Amino acid sequence: MNYPYRTPGDPGRGRFAPSPTSALHLGNLRTALAAWLLARRSGRGFVVRIEDLDQARVAAAGDIAGRQLADLEALGLDWDPPVIRQSQRLEIYAEMISRLDSYPCFCTRREIAAASQAPDGNPQSGEGDWQPYPGTCRDLTAAERTARSSSRPPALRLRTTVDSCAVTDLARGRQRGRVDDVVLRRNDGTPAYNLAVVVDDGLQGVDQVVRARDLWPSAPRQAVIAGLLGMPVPGYAHTGLVTGPAGRRLAKSARTPGSLGSAGLAELAEAGIGVPQLRRLLCRSLGLPEVDRLDELLAPDPRIDLALTPPDPAAAQTPLDAGPLAGPQGWWSDTELHADH
Ligand code: GLU
Repeated sequence: MNYPYRTPGDPGRGRFAPSPTSALHLGNLRTALAAWLLARRSGRGFVVRIEDLDQARVAAAGDIAGRQLADLEALGLDWDPPVIRQSQRLEIYAEMISRLDSYPCFCTRREIAAASQAPDGNPQSGEGDWQPYPGTCRDLTAAERTARSSSRPPALRLRTTVDSCAVTDLARGRQRGRVDDVVLRRNDGTPAYNLAVVVDDGLQGVDQVVRARDLWPSAPRQAVIAGLLGMPVPGYAHTGLVTGPAGRRLAKSARTPGSLGSAGLAELAEAGIGVPQLRRLLCRSLGLPEVDRLDELLAPDPRIDLALTPPDPAAAQTPLDAGPLAGPQGWWSDTELHADH
């Protein structure tokens, strides 16, 4: 099958790619606004993609994709049709996986965690909790594969030929992160996140990926997959996270009075924070003028140009670090939002 890649003259596009597994919280909405604004103000298109491959989690959440779209619309974001759903593109992912050199992997999560443990017992790095796959199943013999498949269906992993890749983030500069034999297809047959996201960005002509910083460690692996599929690597810009008090990660259990934590639009409305106030809050947290309608942000305005100038993407290459960026609160640093902000 021949799938079209981006054609010459296409202005490119940005995207927002929510997983319909929980309501969009303030962090998601802030990132969506940042992605929309960076795309639209640079003359790009903007698409929304529903990343619903994990059908068990999607079903458990009650298929809330429609509500996520309604929330984005209520905020005032718009996007170019069609909204694609990953669950309807399984054949495309299968075809793309077949183009890559891969091997079956029978390891359980626990086996991988045990094998990846660093000698000093400390698996932490600037790349969060992620540890490269140690390659246990890479060179199994045919007989070993047959024996192991009787007890467990295999996942499929990329047989990579590199162990690192440099990628550029508009705010963080050029950083080099580790690359491993990334999973392409999970052992339940579902295409893996890293594969699907690369295929869709490539086929949708996405050349600007704005998303939260917790996904920065995935970028080197995604760039390698894109390169192997002959797709251009998009420009990345990872936003700061909206945190709970004292910089803690958002969790529903960690709500404190005044801090808006992980509330979604419905919960915020119950707390007396309507969409206009929410819009103002998000604009202020991004250093933008507090507009009544988001399309006002698309008009020429020197204040907005300032907000859109990211820190120097320094030419020097540093090890990948997904930690919070220091500095004044803005697009790229973590921030806590309060109702009375
Ligand atoms: N669907 C992913 C999420 O909601 C985002 C994927 C991406 O932006 O690359 O976390």
